[in-house]
Amino acid sequence: MSLLEFLLGLALVALAAWAAWRLRRARTERNRLAGELAEQRAQREVELHAQSERTAALFDRMVEGILVVDAAGRIRLANRAAGTLFQFTPPAQGRTVLEATRHHEVAAIVTRLTREPEVLNHELRIDGVTETRYFEVNALALRGAGGTPDGAILVFHDLTALRRLEAVRQEFVANVSHELRTPLSLVKSAAETLLDGGRHDPAVTSRFLEIIDKNANRLTLLLDDLLLLARLDSGRVELNLRPVMMRDAAQEALDDAALIAQARAVTLVNEVPGDLRALADPDRLRQVLANLIDNAIKYGREGGLVSVRGRAMGSSLVEMSVRDNGAGIPPEALARVFERFYRVDKARSREQGGTGLGLAIVKNVVQAHGGDVRVESTAGQGAEFFFTLSRPGAERKQDPTLNPVSTVP
Ligand code: ADP
Repeated sequence: MSLLEFLLGLALVALAAWAAWRLRRARTERNRLAGELAEQRAQREVELHAQSERTAALFDRMVEGILVVDAAGRIRLANRAAGTLFQFTPPAQGRTVLEATRHHEVAAIVTRLTREPEVLNHELRIDGVTETRYFEVNALALRGAGGTPDGAILVFHDLTALRRLEAVRQEFVANVSHELRTPLSLVKSAAETLLDGGRHDPAVTSRFLEIIDKNANRLTLLLDDLLLLARLDSGRVELNLRPVMMRDAAQEALDDAALIAQARAVTLVNEVPGDLRALADPDRLRQVLANLIDNAIKYGREGGLVSVRGRAMGSSLVEMSVRDNGAGIPPEALARVFERFYRVDKARSREQGGTGLGLAIVKNVVQAHGGDVRVESTAGQGAEFFFTLSRPGAERKQDPTLNPVSTVP
């Protein structure tokens, strides 16, 4: 073999080795890239899955009911709120809106969306077995690629609580107007009588001035109570909480009521233990006790008995009560006596100068202290009104927002 042949052979071997090495390298590189791609794809799938889980959770947790329907008017998606609203059984997916919701009005909105791009602020009323609920429906037609119809999305916003509040507000305004009108018209007619010549007769003058005075006082009381309730409602009442000896507080309130008790020959009894202490604002507590004692005397039996009692309830609460032995409260009225302007006997309350707000104030003041109120009564055997307060030192164990320790701004 010549040298030339030998060198040529060597070059060929080297070339083959280089080619094999390149091939191996290219294969390794391809494998590495394929591995990387697979890893990226897997990661992307995990991310997509997590994202769709998050979207589904969000969709399900929304307070608004949501229905997504396809172009044929069949339900594609319904969140939990929509399920609760329409009580879907079996699941809504795949059924028409009418089949699933059983509401022609909702189905009609879906039909409208085949012609119109959106339906806004549509009011929907759903009569349930126990209550009527109100919804605002906002719906949007969906378009696919090229603008082809692709179903619709409907959002149901519950207005029931708002409607209820509005009704309460309207009733309250009507009640306030009525309460103001009665004493005002009495003041006005008394003044007119005096102006029409009644003032020339001293007996008539003094009788009508008394009417004016009495009704002006009643208006003042009513306005005071209304303003206090408004302040309590908005949390603007300052509570200067401190440990209070409950027997002393009860005695002060009973002493204040001594005159009106005497007028009805009612015996007042303080049965509160001497060592019972509660955390309260002394002025507001006095107001609560005064209202309850006042009622017990007014609505209790003439010549009867009114007692204030108190006891520790567990380690954190004190329960106080005011009891009388009068006619009591009918069972159907028990749940309503703490409502504003509710009276069992309207004429009797007015005759006694009541504003109909006393027990509502009691309830709000006690609740501002973090306590609760209740009443027990057996017809003919009197009534007992209870309220709870915290024991000093126990307030830190409770919800600080419900039981302010120092001052509420
Ligand atoms: P009012 O100004 O009419 O006394 P309240 O809010 O204090 O208003 O009381 C509401 C109603 O609850 C009263 O009108 C009365 O019918 C009833 N009530 C309150 N306390 C008693 C009681 N101790 N016994 C019987 N009825 C009571």
